[in-house]
Amino acid sequence: MLKWLDVIKFANNGNPVPDRRVEKTNEEWKALLTDEQFRITRLKGTERAFSSDLCSYFEPGRYACICCGTELFDADTKFESGTGWPSFTQPIKENAVAYHKDGSFGMVRIEALCNTCDAHLGHVFQDGPMPSRLRYCMNAVSLKKFDVRERKIDFGGGCFWCTEALFQRIKGVIKVENGFSGGTLVNPTYREVCSGGTGHAEIVEITYNPDEISFEDLLQIHLGTHNPTTVNQLDADRGSQYRSIIFYRTEDEKQTAMKIIDEVQKSYPDRVVTQLEMFEHFYKADDYHQNYYNNNPDEGYCRAFIDPKLGKFMEQYKDKLKQE
Ligand SMILES: [Zn+2]
Repeated sequence: MLKWLDVIKFANNGNPVPDRRVEKTNEEWKALLTDEQFRITRLKGTERAFSSDLCSYFEPGRYACICCGTELFDADTKFESGTGWPSFTQPIKENAVAYHKDGSFGMVRIEALCNTCDAHLGHVFQDGPMPSRLRYCMNAVSLKKFDVRERKIDFGGGCFWCTEALFQRIKGVIKVENGFSGGTLVNPTYREVCSGGTGHAEIVEITYNPDEISFEDLLQIHLGTHNPTTVNQLDADRGSQYRSIIFYRTEDEKQTAMKIIDEVQKSYPDRVVTQLEMFEHFYKADDYHQNYYNNNPDEGYCRAFIDPKLGKFMEQYKDKLKQE
């Protein structure tokens, strides 16, 4: 996650290398863009505040550069800033946006540009909400909104190496990432989380295609593959970071999760203690923790704990697995 210091560093020392570059002459851009789009993106203009409906639009999706189509922001990071310009806390990738010092109008501000084609997007300020505290104040004219079918769900149920290995094998799951959420510290390390004092849970963030697997199915699998009645202890792992937890993003998801927890409760004599929390932020763990089982199948923990769990899982959810 980028912070203000990172933004200043990029502005002072140079920006990260973009995945690709798009370069055109002003004449070529003019032919592609409307007059207003050209004025704002290529001549560093600013649209009138509250001139776009995009400010109060918070549906899932992504935002791309109007000039070159590069994806810049996810709707997950959009927030109501009250400024009259669409505002985000974080770009979709660290190298999506470039930062330049802008001394116009007698102020020093940080200008945000598309790192692919240098389109002027707006400015970045350090008065945004937690956890990044950044506010990407963007011209709606510089952005193109598009829908994505992909959805995300975050949950925890013990060691994320296990949970990751299971869900990677489910049909409709596009990506599984390991990380932390639900705590107080910003950007915690694995060691800090393992100390148990940060309040974070080890979780997985699953990106899935709802046409192939539903939110309900994923939750049912989640609650069916760990014991949701033990407080802060799952299999061999003990500590509050291993608590059973589900993060919802919408009221609909919350209602669905409550219904499923009620159903699951019927098959346990003890109370299901799975926590239900509003999703706030996912902190991705270091690369070492990603794709852990696939990268370390012979490691002791994988053999002792993940192998047997995975074997049972493949049998139980046969009809939901990806075809090899
Ligand atoms: Zn661009």
